Amino acid sequence: MRKPVVTIDGPAGSGKSTTAKMVARKLGYTYLDTGAMYRAMTVKALKTGVDLDDPDALARQARETDMAIRPDPDGTRVILDGIDVTDEIRTPAVTQASSIIAAAEGVRKRMVELQRQVGAGGGIVAEGRDMGSVVFKDAEIKIYLDASLGCRALRRKKELEAAGTAVDLEKMEKDIESRDVYDSSREHSPLIIPEGSIIVDTTEMTIEEQVERVIQEVRKKTGE
Ligand code: C5P
Repeated sequence: MRKPVVTIDGPAGSGKSTTAKMVARKLGYTYLDTGAMYRAMTVKALKTGVDLDDPDALARQARETDMAIRPDPDGTRVILDGIDVTDEIRTPAVTQASSIIAAAEGVRKRMVELQRQVGAGGGIVAEGRDMGSVVFKDAEIKIYLDASLGCRALRRKKELEAAGTAVDLEKMEKDIESRDVYDSSREHSPLIIPEGSIIVDTTEMTIEEQVERVIQEVRKKTGE
């Protein structure tokens, strides 16, 4: 039997990456971090200096870029024009600009094609903003993770601090909020709660609880 597609959408810091990664590992599914792809295109845009206010130029750049995705249990590796940029995509500058690049319709078109190729055989946990609403509309299990703004900012702060970057909590809240607003109000594939999704508020949950909750939903569907 074909294994299902599990989508996990939600705003920044809702716990998508950690949850999706652990669920995929436990089930033996492929983990796909689609944010990493938009971040990688952002690395290129910042390097080449393309006009971020010009969606057509961003789309052209996306079409002319050779992007390869290497799903990996520890995180999706992205190879741009033959160079692995995975380690460059988490800087604050890339994070902030990524929403602008991701709003360009032509950029999304290219990324969605690649995402569908990776998910074509099923057995995938795909996380992002439009997984259940656009990319894998027919996914068997759709999850929408959410958490309070304060909680999401605190999680991001801890993550970045663990990686050695000092963070001001108030600034982090503002940055996350502005990215949320941008992602939710854009014209193409905005962040929405996909139809048929299960909403999980993770504010008071531990990672283990979030993972268990998603796995329960998968088992309900697969009957395992
Ligand atoms: O999830 P992450 O924070 O890595 O995503 C970076 C940015 O990429 C988001 O702020 C969002 O603008 C964009 N994104 C998107 N669609 C996705 C995944 C990410 O627009 N499926």
